[in-house]
Amino acid sequence: MEPKSILLEMREYLMEMGAETLDRCMHCGLCAGICPWRLVPGQTGEQFNIRRMQRMGQLGIEGFEEENILFACSTCGMCQNNCPRGVKIIGNVRAMRASIVGGGMPPASLRPILGGTHANGNPWSGPREKRSQWQEGLDIPAFGPDTEYFLFVCCHSCYDPRGQKIARSIARLLQKGGVSFGTIGPEESCCGESIRKVGDEELFQKLAAANMELFAARGVKKIITTSPHCLWSFKNDYAELGAEWEVVHYTEILSRLFAEGKLALPGKVEAKVAYHDPCYLGRHSGVYETPRELLGRAPGVETRELARSHGQSLCCAGGGGRIWAEVPMGERFGELRITEAVDAGAQVLTTACPFCVNMLTDACTSMDKQDVLEIKELSEILAECL
Ligand code: SF4
Ligand code: SF4
Repeated sequence: MEPKSILLEMREYLMEMGAETLDRCMHCGLCAGICPWRLVPGQTGEQFNIRRMQRMGQLGIEGFEEENILFACSTCGMCQNNCPRGVKIIGNVRAMRASIVGGGMPPASLRPILGGTHANGNPWSGPREKRSQWQEGLDIPAFGPDTEYFLFVCCHSCYDPRGQKIARSIARLLQKGGVSFGTIGPEESCCGESIRKVGDEELFQKLAAANMELFAARGVKKIITTSPHCLWSFKNDYAELGAEWEVVHYTEILSRLFAEGKLALPGKVEAKVAYHDPCYLGRHSGVYETPRELLGRAPGVETRELARSHGQSLCCAGGGGRIWAEVPMGERFGELRITEAVDAGAQVLTTACPFCVNMLTDACTSMDKQDVLEIKELSEILAECL
């Protein structure tokens, strides 16, 4: 009798934590077949099977999978978008992770990330007072009644030197286009998108509550995000909590500026450039053409398409908390992406997400391809043309 009730309790817990569609799974295995883990060698690739995880969830089996397997999903959305039964696979994975993390047993690799976020409000453990360091010298006003948009800069771009360059490029383009925007800075907390995906629901709720209170107090109505992860979270996670802001990714604002004739690119970048669709901008948010249109506006750029693009785009492996995972060389999704870019004849691989830039740069360096392929955020290419 007892084991039965434990199983039922676990099933109920998973349902409560967001796995409402778990029972729809009919075990066709399509998800496991199209998962990028099928494309790389190594132990995780051999063991990771998302269909099996759905089954374990249905049965309420505690523990689900070994830690390195349960936390291996990058939440790229490829399986979920193709599931014939509409199973919200990522919600199921998040709930399974929550059963471990919520019990105070996160994987060792995530402990400093979660601890740092508790202490500093961001996963990079950056001091709050340095959150605005990226904007030094740019003369960006504080968000207030006189500014239309609140520019929310991803924590990665607030603290990572490479990411800071991306934030500066975006801000310069917005300024050039005459957008009325401001920042808040030190009081902001991480959007919590990846924190929630690794299963720390309590910490996500804490971050979200702090942001919602802050944004309400400052009168925020319209938000521009630099990262597709913040975009997705504000539009989905925060909407669940009652947020009603208008949220756009920076590429969407830039596209509008060009259409209205408010932004021009007098310079040029002469290069063959391929665009990598970030999972959270493409598959998760449906923005595929806007970044391509912007790239096409950069004088001198010759565009190339990667073999896997749009809805079939290959994940960089930075989502779902995987940006903090140690993956052996030769087993990284990003390495496949670098090969695709080189095969497409690109000299530059561009994208519109700071996490993708991070992962693709690592992959390019580990493959020693820096001499033939440069990784750039789209805003950097456009800003070079200003
Ligand atoms: S594709 Fe959907 S229905 Fe098929 S095994 Fe995966 S989760 Fe289940
Ligand atoms: S979301 Fe992506 S990485 Fe995760 S199981 Fe599905 S296809 Fe694999």
